[in-house]
Amino acid sequence: DPRIEGIAASIRVVPNFPKPGIMFQDITTLLLDPKAFKNTVDLFVERYTGKDISVVAGIEARGFIFGPPIALAIGAKFIPLRKPRKLPGEVISEEYVLEYGTDCLEMHVGAVKPGERALVVDDLVATGGTLCAAINLLERAGAEVVECACVIELPELKGRERLNGKPLYILVESR
Ligand code: 5GP
Repeated sequence: DPRIEGIAASIRVVPNFPKPGIMFQDITTLLLDPKAFKNTVDLFVERYTGKDISVVAGIEARGFIFGPPIALAIGAKFIPLRKPRKLPGEVISEEYVLEYGTDCLEMHVGAVKPGERALVVDDLVATGGTLCAAINLLERAGAEVVECACVIELPELKGRERLNGKPLYILVESR
């Protein structure tokens, strides 16, 4: 798709952020380019329209930027999957392993009903640990995860292999 090139070009790479050796993929510059931002949302909306998806689950924090416009356009509800102790209601939690230590995602109990068809949205997949936790939360609540959608994949980290066979759709690969 000719729109992909403009999207890829709008993403800034910041060396040594947040630590030495990391090449951080910065999507805030994509958001500064209204055409690239719209094309990003449109590509996802085109893919998921008519797929009977009733839930878009966005991962804190950058899944909260791309998830809601997709949800509105396809007529789905939006569920925030948040870092610990941010959600006020009763939650279920899923821990996942990071390079050093663990992190956790939480979802409100009752946000999704058994049998609902869900799409998981985030900006980037690296090791896949975050998406895996999101899939587990939704499946524990009885939802069917149809696909995960990210703007960027770092293919060298093989995150795709950690998704228990769930399909992953991405727009841009980065090395
Ligand atoms: P994973 O769990 O796949 O290793 O890491 C993915 C998570 O870390 C995502 O929530 C993503 O937002 C964040 N992340 C890791 N590296 C980067 C990066 O280079 N750029 C951005 N924008 N997010 C990153």
